[in-house]
Amino acid sequence: MDISFHGAAGEVTGSCLLVTVGGKQLLLDCGLIQGSAAEEARNRRAFPFNPQAIDAVVLSHAHLDHSGRLPLLVKGGFRGPIYTHRATRDLSRIMLLDAAALAERDAVIETRKRQRQARTAVEPLYTRAEAEAAVRQFRALDYDSEQDILPGVRLRLRDAGHILGSAIVELWLTEGTTTRKLVFSGDLGHRGAPILRNPATVREADLVILESTYGDRNHRSWNATWQELGEVFRAATQHAGNILIPAFAIGRTQELLYVFKQHWREWGLDRWTVFLDSPMAIAATEVYAHHANLFNDKDKDRRRRDGDLFALPNLHFSRTSSQSMAINRIQSGAVIIAGSGMCNGGRIRHHLKHNVWREQCHVVFTGFQARGTLGRQLVDGAPRVRLWGESIRVAAQLHTIGGLSAHADQEGLLAWYRGFGQPLPPVALVHGEPIAIDGLAARLKTLRAPVIVPTPSERLDLTDLPR
Ligand code: ZN
Repeated sequence: MDISFHGAAGEVTGSCLLVTVGGKQLLLDCGLIQGSAAEEARNRRAFPFNPQAIDAVVLSHAHLDHSGRLPLLVKGGFRGPIYTHRATRDLSRIMLLDAAALAERDAVIETRKRQRQARTAVEPLYTRAEAEAAVRQFRALDYDSEQDILPGVRLRLRDAGHILGSAIVELWLTEGTTTRKLVFSGDLGHRGAPILRNPATVREADLVILESTYGDRNHRSWNATWQELGEVFRAATQHAGNILIPAFAIGRTQELLYVFKQHWREWGLDRWTVFLDSPMAIAATEVYAHHANLFNDKDKDRRRRDGDLFALPNLHFSRTSSQSMAINRIQSGAVIIAGSGMCNGGRIRHHLKHNVWREQCHVVFTGFQARGTLGRQLVDGAPRVRLWGESIRVAAQLHTIGGLSAHADQEGLLAWYRGFGQPLPPVALVHGEPIAIDGLAARLKTLRAPVIVPTPSERLDLTDLPR
């Protein structure tokens, strides 16, 4: 009975854990590595295990750094069930098909370029048909109900409060007369977030696998964050430019629409035109509205009272690329929400090309920017950026609204972990840059927690854990 760390060990993306129990193999997440082109090239490498030998997958949530290699797993011969929350199934379908469509498009562009140089064609990482095949293997579950998913493996999903459908994974693993309880935090939400519930408290574990994205930092309070965002609108109103918001289609976009609705008059949003320039974000917003039973109690009430939480006067959905291109002609008064959230792809790059060199424009970063991405370059203060081979001056005002994170901060992670009670269970830290993991490990050690920092491919025997 053991677990090996095949991704997000000492880094943030590519979440992938392999659990072996009684001869069965269970994969927790199968995420895409995201970052620079060199890092993303690792997605094309063979898995460090045989996909045909995997008996089942449990998927914590729909973000691609947790789900994005599932089509490759199926392509490699995995035929078993993929257990996940039903909202994650709906969101994953959107995410995976979009990722596949982008991969197909990129492969066509790259192949054309190579043909001009008499080089061989490239294949997309996976196709839409391959993504569809993976989605057909999804088995939808609800929170809080226990299921036997394999001989010796019992599963329960708990609300992680990170994005809609996100789950903390509880696993009871039995081999002979020995049972061990493994708890995988997935990505843990930020308490007090709009729309979602707080991460569920979990009791008892023999091993906790804890994400550490913000393990070394605390977020601002939600109130300070809303004030900060309001200030950006007030400043931008005087500058007669546009506001660009690179946003993740799932989660962040719905939060933005939600706070825009709450602060519509206060922030002077009636003077702007809001564009949701992302077919994926539009589809995800529909999934959110469909699963309103998963909202926190306050927002369920609000929805009964005020109707759709995401509907704004003056909100335009831009689905087609010609609708998106039309936005490029707008010089001022547009709030443009577009993906990708880290600016490493998607329509936001076109909007950056048209706006980032203009002093009167504003770019508002609302989420984590991984190393190697265009978003990270901008946040780190690059004076120029390259877009389609063109070097473009960065003159727009950049804002980072850190408090909008969908991840728990250091205090949030510690509070959730302390929920296990005494004696504190061994905790393995994943899904963080080394500095974040070190910061969290240092705090955990002051609680006398047995801390493990797994290295890539490290294997832990679950019957022989530190105490
Ligand atoms: Zn996530």
